[in-house]
Amino acid sequence: MYRGLVVSGAILAGFGVFLIVIDLYVPLGVSIFGLPISITGAVMFAVGFFREEPKPVEPEPGKKFCWYCMKQIPKHAFECPECSLPQHGSPE
Ligand SMILES: [Zn+2]
Repeated sequence: MYRGLVVSGAILAGFGVFLIVIDLYVPLGVSIFGLPISITGAVMFAVGFFREEPKPVEPEPGKKFCWYCMKQIPKHAFECPECSLPQHGSPE
C-alpha cells in the first residue's frame, strides 16, 4: 500500500464530493469540477492500495537533504553550504 497516494487520493475525492455537495446548496456549477475531481481522487485511492510503498530516499548517516537544492548537507547545518539558504525545521 502506497499510503501517500491513498491519503492524497482520499483528500482529493473528499474535495470533489465537497464541491458537489456545495453545489446542492449554492448553485455555482462547481459540481462540473467536483465529479472529475472526486473520480480522480477515487482512482488514486484505489491505485494507492495496490502500489508498493516507494522506497524513501535516505540520506547518508549524519547528513540530511537541503530543502532547496536537495544536496546532502551536514545534519545540523542551519544554512546549506551549497546554496546558502536557511534550513527549516529542528535538526533531529
Ligand atoms: Zn541547498
